[in-house]
Amino acid sequence: MPRILEPGQIESLAQGAIPRVRLPQHAGPFRARAERLRQLAAPGAIGHAIGDYLKLMAVVVEAQAAAAATVDPRLPDATELGRARTHRMPPIEARGWAREPLWRVLGAELAERVAGAADIPDQARHELTQVRSLPPEWLEGQADALLSGRREDIEMAVAPFVMASLQTYWVALASRLTEEVVPPLEVPGLCPACGSLPVASVVRVDRRSQGHRYLHCGLCATEWHLVRVTCSHCQNTEGIAYHSIEGGPDAIRAESCEHCHIYRKILYQEQDAGVEPVADDLASLPLDLLMGEAGYQRGSGNPLLWQ
Ligand code: FE
Ligand code: FE
Repeated sequence: MPRILEPGQIESLAQGAIPRVRLPQHAGPFRARAERLRQLAAPGAIGHAIGDYLKLMAVVVEAQAAAAATVDPRLPDATELGRARTHRMPPIEARGWAREPLWRVLGAELAERVAGAADIPDQARHELTQVRSLPPEWLEGQADALLSGRREDIEMAVAPFVMASLQTYWVALASRLTEEVVPPLEVPGLCPACGSLPVASVVRVDRRSQGHRYLHCGLCATEWHLVRVTCSHCQNTEGIAYHSIEGGPDAIRAESCEHCHIYRKILYQEQDAGVEPVADDLASLPLDLLMGEAGYQRGSGNPLLWQ
């Protein structure tokens, strides 16, 4: 049985021992994600029906891990950090940060690595060749549209590639911050490092974070604490319900809110130590269909899924 704490109890604990923020460790999130994508694509796993897509994404994420390990981005200076602290703003805010052309260099590296992989479909290889000749100004415009959520300006065919490049850059940035320079925000539903929306949440079981729930940033992979049985969209604590697929894995549920009718998935390491927010969210599309039929809307998209 999962260990249940009352919200008040959790908050008082949160003041003391547990980490408020869990920053990514180097390329760690990408390594865990790639491994999990391959597991979820296997026969008998929840993602087997879309296994080919998950395996292609595993190749992309493996390339992200390799690229992230080599990159050295410019970090916020003392003035920028001071401003973020004073105004309780994310120090590497996705929309405000003067991103370096480096993110496009990373993108070119990703495209080359993925196109060179043995186990990808010819169609994907062809698209990647085209992506490498796109003009820089156009890519910058696409990055702006993606990071500010202007869906009408996003070119869907190229979006997964641009997003993968931006993720690689932002994970590299976030992994070089320390918890002290990431202030708590006024809005608990946004990533305190980069200000993006969470993709899903995970109840962790490691010694430091035992039984506590963390939201996982879809861009920079930073995780931040949110009390359990709380809507990750409107922070309401009443009318929260949990949904799962009959006969499906116990480690994943959808947490819905009767106040705003938004849901996000929540993963339980107690049930499956290998859960990874981006991979498990992507592989559990049947749960999204169930939630859509029940009249709920997703809180935010999955960075590896574009239609
Ligand atoms: Fe973030
Ligand atoms: Fe809500």
